Amino acid sequence: MKFSKRTKLNIILLWVFTALPMSIFLYYYYPSQPIDWSIFMLMVLLAIATTAIPIYIGNVTIFFSQWVTVAAFLAYGAGVEMILVQLSILPMIFRVLFLQDLPYRLIFSSWMFIMVSFLSASAAHIAGYQIGSMDTIQILLGATIFMFVSLLSNHVILYSRERILGQKEKFFSRDALWDYAAGLVTLPFAVALYVLQLTMGWLAFPLLGIPFLLITYVMRMYNTAERANIALAKASAFGHELADRLSVEQIVNMFLEHLKNLLPADNIYIIDNLKGNYVVMRALEDGHEMRIDVPSDTIKNSFIHYYFTYSEKQCYVKSSEWVHEAPDFLKNDMNSLLIVPVHRNKKTEGLIILTARKKYAFEKFQLDIVHLLATYFAVSLEKAKYVNAAVEKSETCALTGLHNYRFLNKTLEIEQNRLNSNPHLILSALMLDIDHFKQINDRYGHHAGNIVLKDFAKLIQKNVPEDAVVARYGGEEFVIILPQYTKEEATKIGEKVRQTVEIHPFLVDSDLTKNRLDEIIYITVSIGVSSAPEDTDETMSLLRNADRALYIGAKQAGRNKVAEYLK
Ligand code: GH3
Ligand code: MG
Ligand code: MG
Repeated sequence: MKFSKRTKLNIILLWVFTALPMSIFLYYYYPSQPIDWSIFMLMVLLAIATTAIPIYIGNVTIFFSQWVTVAAFLAYGAGVEMILVQLSILPMIFRVLFLQDLPYRLIFSSWMFIMVSFLSASAAHIAGYQIGSMDTIQILLGATIFMFVSLLSNHVILYSRERILGQKEKFFSRDALWDYAAGLVTLPFAVALYVLQLTMGWLAFPLLGIPFLLITYVMRMYNTAERANIALAKASAFGHELADRLSVEQIVNMFLEHLKNLLPADNIYIIDNLKGNYVVMRALEDGHEMRIDVPSDTIKNSFIHYYFTYSEKQCYVKSSEWVHEAPDFLKNDMNSLLIVPVHRNKKTEGLIILTARKKYAFEKFQLDIVHLLATYFAVSLEKAKYVNAAVEKSETCALTGLHNYRFLNKTLEIEQNRLNSNPHLILSALMLDIDHFKQINDRYGHHAGNIVLKDFAKLIQKNVPEDAVVARYGGEEFVIILPQYTKEEATKIGEKVRQTVEIHPFLVDSDLTKNRLDEIIYITVSIGVSSAPEDTDETMSLLRNADRALYIGAKQAGRNKVAEYLK
């Protein structure tokens, strides 16, 4: 989201006219104690180090730096606390460098933290806290109130901002609850740090700081392992789900959907290797399906070629690492990039590329997860291809290459549903039977008969419209399904086929004649025509009707005829 000029101006005015005077006021006029600069420096270091080790829970990033800033307030007052907070957010800036209008966001954050410092310090003072207090009750009460008001005001300001931007409805979101939980955890540490530096001075910092940072670091590692486990469980569930899908389209869609949900990517690309040509097969940019037509050579001349060649996976954390060798479509403001090969038969069949505006968006474990998903993806695609090939084979006539009876049945079922859905739809069918075919077998042998059947199949396929479905019904009987053709149009098509067959020379080499010479023969065909809904509402009766027309209207009437079904 981009800020308007007006919003930018408002942010600056807000800071200059409220935060600036307030920070001066906090520094000079709020209760304070003289600063020990060496202690202050240690506080700055510790606060920055703590912010640099955030922990991620879901989409929430939790920082624990308040254990130092609250201690600073207890010791030196709101002015110092305020400066410390402003300094401690420096490592955060590093993480959000990708954001648009960053300076204005930072000015807003700065304003918010100054407000929060002011409100929480005021609350602690109203409750009677004296800066530098040695009184246990006062310390505990002051720290608790300061912490609570600070969390609450931070929460209210962020919530109001979201409401103004029209983004959020719920006050107690998961994010906010985690902030409170983090506050609760850090409060005792803040008190301990304050009290210990009162009695021990600088020694308090390594004494508490080192274990605190170590524990935060261990928690973070555990946190990463936990997230990797969750992602792994999701990935394996995905593998099972994917294995159930049998169409290539479904598999690719599901794969993209899962990548989108599992990783913080802004854009996802699947690049295919089609016999040495690199094609962007699918692209999801900010959740929207895009068509990207890039010449194969553009991709070949980029760093992507390396990954096709060596089938490696890689995780880039910022654009400077890859952008100079990248094709343009990948660039648009992206920083992080994850690239993973899709292997099949020891070949890189494709590449998955995920990009994100954020720096350091992807972690090492996520690279492994995508690699695992890519393996499931490749296996499922392979399986779908085999299944599709097997289904196709089972629906094809081995002799003629036409569709067979099984396919015809399926088509008629589909057509039935289509007809049921709309009374204006029509469907015509032609039933064909070669005349005196038995004689061909008898005279030239079955092999010759087969060759005639094959040629006949080719001939009719060539002489019907492209949207016609031609199937071998059995023996020397064929069916032509004509969706959206009237009975009259279908009869015309039948007539054309009949005439074409009549004059077509079929070449047969006879097994049965003595000299086994090639011979040219001529055949004729009889055809019956029926249409829905004119003759019937049922696609199955359509075939029966066409058959009746064929026998009564064509065969019995002398063969080599096209006959329409008569009710
Ligand atoms: P009609 O004009 O009445 O249709 O006469 P016909 O001889 O074509 O009819 P009939 O049904 O008596 O004979 C069909 C013949 O088709 C019988 C069978 O030997 C032959 N046939 C069926 N399937 C095949 C096949 O796959 N290959 C060969 N070569 N012949 C087949
Ligand atoms: Mg027959
Ligand atoms: Mg026949």
